[in-house]
Amino acid sequence: MNKIIIAIDGYSSTGKSTVARQLADYLNYIYVDSGAMYRAVALFALQNNYLSKNHFDKQSLLMSLPAIKIEFKKEAKNNRADIFLNDKNVEKEIRTMHVSDFVSPIATLSEVRKKLVSIQHKMGIEKGIVMDGRDIGTVVFPDAELKIFMNANTQVRALRRYNELIEKGQNVSFDEILKNVEKRDLLDTTRIDSPLVKATDAIEVDNSETNREDQFHIILQLAKDRIAKRI
Ligand code: C5P
Repeated sequence: MNKIIIAIDGYSSTGKSTVARQLADYLNYIYVDSGAMYRAVALFALQNNYLSKNHFDKQSLLMSLPAIKIEFKKEAKNNRADIFLNDKNVEKEIRTMHVSDFVSPIATLSEVRKKLVSIQHKMGIEKGIVMDGRDIGTVVFPDAELKIFMNANTQVRALRRYNELIEKGQNVSFDEILKNVEKRDLLDTTRIDSPLVKATDAIEVDNSETNREDQFHIILQLAKDRIAKRI
């Protein structure tokens, strides 16, 4: 059966990764969380003290870029691919609020985007991939057979992210999450290189009032239709 590329873009905390994972599991496709790659670069910058609240040593980060190795590998303990930064599993570390606070400024850097987009292209060569992010349908895979653009009310998104982090045992407040989501939306939509925009041929899905299962079945049907067209 012919495989397709599914690009899922949208605002922060719209449940892109949840539906992308559901689709990849069902279709037996590879799932790639491109946001994790930007988070890994932000983590690298924080770990090396190139980045803090009042300081950003952009030059040192850019000079270190060739030495940053980012890979997804399956760990024996679970069936999901975790992200590795220079051979270390950083899946948990990249999900903290600290990294969320610094990732969008890092994602404005064209040099960083160029490096990560090149890795993402290679992952899609054989198709059979579901990738989520901000520029997947516009820049990474402009010819993707199915493009979804996800949105939801800001309060709903912040509450979802808050519940998720509380469940993981992180000490966060709803207000700081709301501010972070709003700040990232603004930076992601207004940056010069590859801003978050809906591709003209993307299908918009607003899930403010849709549950996960209903949404999954709607998008799965769209994917099945696209796959059938390619057979
Ligand atoms: O998807 P997630 O919220 O983990 O992404 C973290 C950040 O990485 C986003 O807020 C955005 O700034 C950046 N990003 C991006 N392009 C992508 C994926 C993520 O700029 N394709």
